[in-house]
Amino acid sequence: MDNCIFCKIAEKKMPSKVVYEDELVFAFEDIEPQAPVHILIVPKKHFSTILELKDEDYSLVSHLVKTATKIAADRGVAEKGFRIVTNCNPESGQSVYHIHFHLLGGRQMHWPPG
Ligand code: AMP
Repeated sequence: MDNCIFCKIAEKKMPSKVVYEDELVFAFEDIEPQAPVHILIVPKKHFSTILELKDEDYSLVSHLVKTATKIAADRGVAEKGFRIVTNCNPESGQSVYHIHFHLLGGRQMHWPPG
């Protein structure tokens, strides 16, 4: 989609620190990490928020989650613990309107989140 920063990153029209890529998903380092491990996992197909997902898109969601858990294992945070977060719409703090899962790990997390 035009003017979507994460589409541009997934299409490699904008630079990023690539972590993983396959035909459906793209993962890269967050530019402003909130934890020692902070990776964004995005679908290559553009959806602004998770509210746009249709029934037929949920296999893509499980692929995104599976990718996040694999990366957590690769980065050595799986056993100690990690968090997968997706924000939806303004009150959640969503700032980029292309679905993304944050994978956060490598430090003690707190609850409730801010
Ligand atoms: P959210 O606020 O949930 O929409 O998350 C958007 C995330 O994208 C934030 O954690 C930003 O730091 C991150 N971000 C924004 N621009 C870039 C970029 N060019 N490369 C990597 N991460 C980015």
